[in-house]
Amino acid sequence: MFTKILIANRGEIACRVMETARRLGVRTVAVYSDADRGAKHVAMADEAVHIGPPSPSESYLMGDKIIAAALETGAEAIHPGYGFLSENPGFVDAVEAVGLAFIGPSASAIRAMGLKDAAKVLMEKAGVPVVPGYHGENQDPEHLFGAADTIGYPVLIKAVAGGGGKGMRLVEAPEKFMEALISAKGEAKTAFGNEAVLIEKYIIAPRHIEVQVFGDGTKAVHLFERDCSLQRRHQKVIEEAPAPGMTEEMRAAMGAAGVRAAEAIGYAGAGTVEFIVDGSHGLRPDGFWFMEMNTRLQVEHPVTEAITGVDLVEWQLRVASGESLPAKQEDLSITGHAFEARLYAEDVPKGFLPATGTLTHLQFPENTRADSGVRAGDTISPWYDPMIAKLTTHGSTRSVALHQMEQALAKTEVAGSVTNLAFLRALTRHEGFAKGDVDTGLIDRNLETLAVDPVPCSKTRSLAALGLMGLSKPQDPSAGFTLWVPTPQETQFRFKDKDIRAKVTTLGPSLFDVELADICHCVERAGDVWLVDGVKTDANIVPLGADVSVFFGNGYHFHGIDPLDRASAASGDGNIIEAPMPGLVKEVFVKVGAKVSKGDRLAVLEAMKMEHALLAARDGIVAEVLTSAGAQVEAGAALIQLESEEEVAA
Ligand code: ADP
Ligand code: ADP
Ligand code: MG
Repeated sequence: MFTKILIANRGEIACRVMETARRLGVRTVAVYSDADRGAKHVAMADEAVHIGPPSPSESYLMGDKIIAAALETGAEAIHPGYGFLSENPGFVDAVEAVGLAFIGPSASAIRAMGLKDAAKVLMEKAGVPVVPGYHGENQDPEHLFGAADTIGYPVLIKAVAGGGGKGMRLVEAPEKFMEALISAKGEAKTAFGNEAVLIEKYIIAPRHIEVQVFGDGTKAVHLFERDCSLQRRHQKVIEEAPAPGMTEEMRAAMGAAGVRAAEAIGYAGAGTVEFIVDGSHGLRPDGFWFMEMNTRLQVEHPVTEAITGVDLVEWQLRVASGESLPAKQEDLSITGHAFEARLYAEDVPKGFLPATGTLTHLQFPENTRADSGVRAGDTISPWYDPMIAKLTTHGSTRSVALHQMEQALAKTEVAGSVTNLAFLRALTRHEGFAKGDVDTGLIDRNLETLAVDPVPCSKTRSLAALGLMGLSKPQDPSAGFTLWVPTPQETQFRFKDKDIRAKVTTLGPSLFDVELADICHCVERAGDVWLVDGVKTDANIVPLGADVSVFFGNGYHFHGIDPLDRASAASGDGNIIEAPMPGLVKEVFVKVGAKVSKGDRLAVLEAMKMEHALLAARDGIVAEVLTSAGAQVEAGAALIQLESEEEVAA
């Protein structure tokens, strides 16, 4: 076993790798950018090396600097985590060239699977079923159009270098093909520097089922399947293992195909073979097709760890340090069922807009695995993935594990940023999902109900009133006996754009009457527990300066209003298009004087690894363009101004 390793990553996965390393007695070296100086992964490591400015291209993607850091600190191996350099064969070559070990597959195995088209050819040869389609060299648009016709609509256009759902377009009919091809190629070029695409048959009622494989360079085993069908824009939201409805026959067929794929390329370490499955007639051993292989540890690996009892990072370290496979296929088995939910800082009702913020309060439930790269007080910055944590539950049955997840989400408390917690929780309560009726379109079909912003009930609002009035903590006993005058005190606060008034009467040191517009509640504090109308709740009140967060099933954030300050509240006029978050202006589509209609794309902002179109809020004429392509802008920066409505009328 190694004595010291360097982790070429940040956040949640860097922390995850360090936990296992520490348990195995392996010392750890972190690398960090300027934005991560105080980050959790830096605090956790035995040593840490600064590698550059916040931008990934100047820090976490600087292979040479990272290798130098490993040499300097005497690390013997580098773990790449996922993302960043994890699937970069040039980096693997460079690591090995200086005599260090790469904790992952060989450069040639990564190359073999790096491009989806070449991987499909290779898998066909190895006898693994692949999605029917065109994955040849000819990139002539007319030829691709013809190929789509032969395959039959609907088809999927995919960037051969694709990943994370980018460069992919579903085309339902021939007349939409050319337009989709151009935009897929454009996106592929920007994201991967490679505009080549392949065409695939679009599988109806598709399920994404992937096989976890593990190799030692010669032989491989599989650690069963994960179902990742709950997706939004081709990105995974909740994953589970095993797959609902899986039969022993199909599992054996998929596992064997996964092992064939891994052995065909002499795979070493943890890898995932992704299959698309036709779920329209139940799961059948002849109804799955290879999509791609991810030659790294996968974000959703914890569900596999939960059901197999294997620590995949431990296996990675053991195999990379020269051991052969830690287990034989017949030693591996499934116990129970597991779910993983990805908790993000994002504004769901605003179209899942990535958010930033300092997490003033962060608490995960006990007895639940929470993989997180942030602590209370840490900041979700615009530079990296806005993931806050991954929650994993493991129960004896699927239904038990799902209920555990619902409860884990209800008891997870985050303040300081909006999150997708309520959305995840709505998913865990979805009837179809509970029955195991999953396919990749489930979220989109139910978006309206899943993405509703929860509204605080009167109990929650009563608790908020107490928090805002400084009554949520026991009063200082040294202050002596106070006379509780049952004189009602009034308070005003706001939830989103709704004003709330409450009248609070203090009846005792921990007993209050709270009168809202529509209802009155009697609230009592007993130790850490709140009782509302005599009923015990699991609510938690967290005051934050002039604001308060109340966690009661969901998290609700209330803004205190100083009565003297009310007049100064800003009133948006829809004339100015602002940057919703810090980012890079990629394109500006309009010039001064341009006539625009409500909903027109005025500019594109790149932030948080995604592109966001900025739309006109109303019909109008562009009065001023205050930015240009290439500009780095702050949140709230005015980018484009429309002529005010009166001017237009005049
Ligand atoms: P897939 O490639 O099949 O979508 P994943 O969901 O594991 O598989 O990851 C999507 C892509 O985004 C991968 O390239 C992964 O490395 C990267 N990624 C996902 N989540 C994170 C994260 N929290 N930090 C860094 N990179 C991430
Ligand atoms: P990426 O590299 O971006 O992860 P994948 O090829 O793994 O790309 O596909 C991502 C997702 O797109 C899949 O999980 C699935 O939801 C959907 N998808 C991919 N191929 C097909 C297909 N042929 N038919 C239907 N859905 C597909
Ligand atoms: Mg994929």
